[in-house]
Amino acid sequence: MTDTVLAVLNQPSRHADPHDPSADAYTWVEPLEEHLQVQDLGAIRGDGVFETITVVDGRPQALEPHLARFVRSAAMLDLPEPDVDAWRQAIEAVCARLDPVHEAFAKTVMTRGVEGSGRPTGWVYAAPSGDQTPARTEGIAVVTLDRGYRHDVERTSPWLLQGAKTLSYAVNMAALREAERRGADDALFVSTDGYVLEGTRANLVASIGGRLVTPRTDIGILAGTTQADVFRFAEAEGIATSYELLTLADLEAADALWLLSSVRQAAPIRSVNGVARGMDLPMTERINDFLLSREQ
Ligand code: PLP
Repeated sequence: MTDTVLAVLNQPSRHADPHDPSADAYTWVEPLEEHLQVQDLGAIRGDGVFETITVVDGRPQALEPHLARFVRSAAMLDLPEPDVDAWRQAIEAVCARLDPVHEAFAKTVMTRGVEGSGRPTGWVYAAPSGDQTPARTEGIAVVTLDRGYRHDVERTSPWLLQGAKTLSYAVNMAALREAERRGADDALFVSTDGYVLEGTRANLVASIGGRLVTPRTDIGILAGTTQADVFRFAEAEGIATSYELLTLADLEAADALWLLSSVRQAAPIRSVNGVARGMDLPMTERINDFLLSREQ
């Protein structure tokens, strides 16, 4: 982790006091140095929000959509509103400080802070991404797992925070381990009433009859920045796109499937529940070339 760069924000939200009134907007910290307080609610309750942003040749990608989602997630958790100018500045600073590398990522984290302090804790770090090529070129095996919620959970039970990018990823990581136990690389969540939702850390896109289709974003899933940019790419290429309710039968009938996310970008799905699927590798390559050449 020596090539990780870390900055801690002094005032992650203008709606809460700064940690140190005389300090700069952010402070550089040695990544390996202990600085997170043990009573921080992010650590003890997973009570906070985060974003993971792709960085290509030092440029953070889809930065504004990531910042907008960070603010939306914070609002869903009743956290003080992140100061997007301060976060943008800190993200750009860590990206600029990173040793030159083609693909990296920056992670922003804002927690509710130390219990009782009323001051959120915020930090940004960046590090090289590691080799993402195998998933992009050989594809990934997924298994479907029941998430245990209906597709309308966001409306019926907003306190479950489905659709917010919270720090509580223990469930997602458990699903990933279950997928691995079943011999797959990732899991695809399905609602109790039979609708396809999202991966553990990615959105699903299907090629159906020449269109690119993704599950509607009002069904308790994250609205993906990568998926949105892939739709932008498709529309520029004259490929129709749509947000729909998709069932497992729709997936079976699809011509090709991908999981899309920051860092990994487009990973074609080579099997679902052990059944081999055709992959559209030329399209995958075009999508990944587009994603990795985004100017913003
Ligand atoms: N869905 C979940 C649950 C995720 O954790 C992520 C990314 O981390 C995504 C979807 C994809 O979002 P993005 O493309 O903005 O990285």
